[in-house]
Amino acid sequence: MERHEVDDWAAGIRAPHDAELMMGYGELAARLEGTEHPDAWRAAFARWDELRRDWSSWANLTRLRYSQDTRREDYRSAQRELDGRAPRVTAFEKSAKRRFLTPEGRRALGPELGAQAFALWDADVSAYDDAIADDLVRESALRREYTELLARATVPFAGEQRSLGELGLALQDPDRAVRRSAEHARWAAFSERAERLDAIFDELVRVRDRMARTLGFDDYVALGYRRMHRIDYGVEEVARYRDEIANVVVPFARDLVRRAGARAGLERVFYWDESCLGVEKRVAPLGDRGWILARTREALGEIAPALGDFAAMMLERRLFDVDARPGKALGAYCTNFPTRRHPFVFANFNGSRADVRTLMHELGHAFQQWESRDKAALDYTNPTYESAEIHSMALEYLSWPQMERFFGQAAAAYRSEHLLGAMLFLPYGAAVDHFQHLVYRHPGATPAERHEMWQEMERRYLPWRDYGDLAYPSAGGLWQEKRHIYVAPFYYIDYTLALCCALQFWSQANTGRGAAVAAYVELCGRGGEAPFRELVRSAGLRSPFEPGVVGEVVAAASAALSETENRT
Ligand SMILES: [Zn+2]
Repeated sequence: MERHEVDDWAAGIRAPHDAELMMGYGELAARLEGTEHPDAWRAAFARWDELRRDWSSWANLTRLRYSQDTRREDYRSAQRELDGRAPRVTAFEKSAKRRFLTPEGRRALGPELGAQAFALWDADVSAYDDAIADDLVRESALRREYTELLARATVPFAGEQRSLGELGLALQDPDRAVRRSAEHARWAAFSERAERLDAIFDELVRVRDRMARTLGFDDYVALGYRRMHRIDYGVEEVARYRDEIANVVVPFARDLVRRAGARAGLERVFYWDESCLGVEKRVAPLGDRGWILARTREALGEIAPALGDFAAMMLERRLFDVDARPGKALGAYCTNFPTRRHPFVFANFNGSRADVRTLMHELGHAFQQWESRDKAALDYTNPTYESAEIHSMALEYLSWPQMERFFGQAAAAYRSEHLLGAMLFLPYGAAVDHFQHLVYRHPGATPAERHEMWQEMERRYLPWRDYGDLAYPSAGGLWQEKRHIYVAPFYYIDYTLALCCALQFWSQANTGRGAAVAAYVELCGRGGEAPFRELVRSAGLRSPFEPGVVGEVVAAASAALSETENRT
């Protein structure tokens, strides 16, 4: 029996009928008719929040089940049902948000909620109209097609058929020849599906562009920012920040690659070598999934008692599905069930060191969601994404002293690779973001032109990149493995912004661990009650948009990396 069929916590989470929802929203409107009394508004708001928690619990369970096995017909049809109904629910939501955005609504709810909820609703209201309902359904269908295309792909490797998720360990093998052939196998899968990958994205771009224009925006960039809830910064800030990465991080990263390659005795550093730069020997967890999860409880408890209690709760309730298997969607994420008031971690463990890092990452999200579960508004149980990724990435770094528990003597190598990887990630993240701006500013481009745009990004942000004899990425196809580009447009610069914040926590922890951990726990408790820059400031961090902050982060990483270089 599959593990997810015995999750008893999920019993009773069901799809609210349209009629129930309509009644719920109708009742909401009736309650507010002709009254300005704040109590009536607050009661209506509380009822609305309940309705949303019901819907969100079912929607998140449906998405989770679907990603656990994209081949199961019952899961697929539930996901199709969700995608088909979502625009109607968004329409209900929009009418409720409009009411709460009125002066009466603001007067009644403002004192308790603060400004952020209104800013979020304002963005939502401008991002939806019934005229785009069909396009939204089509967008969801295309997302499913992309997910299934890759989830179902298997490739022959080392004498057996493997899913792309199961290939992960070989991509980090200490043996260079194994890594190279694993990359060849992986990109052969993309090459076989090249036509569909291009066609799916081409239609996604057209659908998104059409939605934007229907809603009165110039292009999808403006709509995409609203859908991402970018409240306190815009395209200009992001562009300047990317420039800073190009100017400050790229030369440093290029030099890191060169130095690490030289230490490993490599004449050329190929793409398949990048995963092992800074790690000369195998760095893998010393036990299997059960063992890793048990160590996690100890490790988190050592960081802070609140984290230890949280890990114990997650294990007791079995809120994990972490094994890679065929048919499972790729990647890792954390979801939550607002009516049950707990999170759930989804991942694809493959025996590599990434398992531990991914687990810490997703548990960072999960801890924040746990700490924010009783917020007064569903909107505040999760922050916007660039803030949410701080919780996850910071835990990756705050758990550094605990890595001996997972890796034994190889923990030091794990840490230096983690930091080196972060420096290479910042330019990559900027490339993914910049690419999407080009794509949506030029919606009429052909698939071939998009591959050229990506290559232009590689020249700007990843100038060290050498694909050797890998034909598909050499021709500009690397971006097609990046799920976010297909399913969550503009969700990527978020990781780099959050990384710049997480690394500040890391720096602080190096000099005053207790204070850094306390600030982290407190930030998690704030959930999504404020926009990015305000959350960052309140945690004693500096916004990466401030000139010079990227440089400071790089300088701290550089000092730590030279120290390890000198030791070895
Ligand atoms: Zn994350």
